[in-house]
Amino acid sequence: MNIILLGPPGAGKGTQARFLCDDRNMIQLSTGDMLREAKTSGTEMGKRVAEVMDRGDLVTDEIVIGLIREKLQGDKKGGFIFDGFPRTLAQADALGELLQEQGEALDHVVELQVNDEVLVDRIVGRAAEAAAAGQPVRADDNEESLKVRLMAYYKQTSPLVGYYYAKGDLKSVDGLGTMDAVKGDIAGILDA
Ligand code: AMP
Repeated sequence: MNIILLGPPGAGKGTQARFLCDDRNMIQLSTGDMLREAKTSGTEMGKRVAEVMDRGDLVTDEIVIGLIREKLQGDKKGGFIFDGFPRTLAQADALGELLQEQGEALDHVVELQVNDEVLVDRIVGRAAEAAAAGQPVRADDNEESLKVRLMAYYKQTSPLVGYYYAKGDLKSVDGLGTMDAVKGDIAGILDA
């Protein structure tokens, strides 16, 4: 089973993806994690995307599609969870083609619905918690980058809600509940 977790920054996509990996042996494909890894390891690509990411803007479709293409050729285990990808209509089209090439299909697109004030609180809270625990704070978890990230979501990514609705793949869950409640709602969709 292959699914997309769709939603704005701070909606809980990463948290829910990790639950699904643990419970269902699925593979989390987070383009954000891959890009951060490239940034820290100082690869050529990592250096090129650092500034764009820190600002909160999206990196080019070409780069992220390339990252995903590579991963789809590896072990599929219990299926893929696309977390933070696709983020543009071009990426969504590309994902459809890549899956088809692999003889795979997209089973569900799960939209985590939240409101903007909660997002800002969650992200600011995530940064404060990391700082208090002596852990690295994401360079883009600050108020200025957050505004850019939210704008990128509304301008470039939110059209995907309509795109997948029209394809008949969209399922929406209330992302404002507790982690366990959201997890239960997602399980309900995957097990239906
Ligand atoms: P995330 O961890 O998903 O919040 O992603 C962090 C940052 O990585 C984003 O703000 C973008 O700069 C970049 N990024 C991650 N995934 C994508 C994507 N699918 N397309 C473009 N940029 C991305």
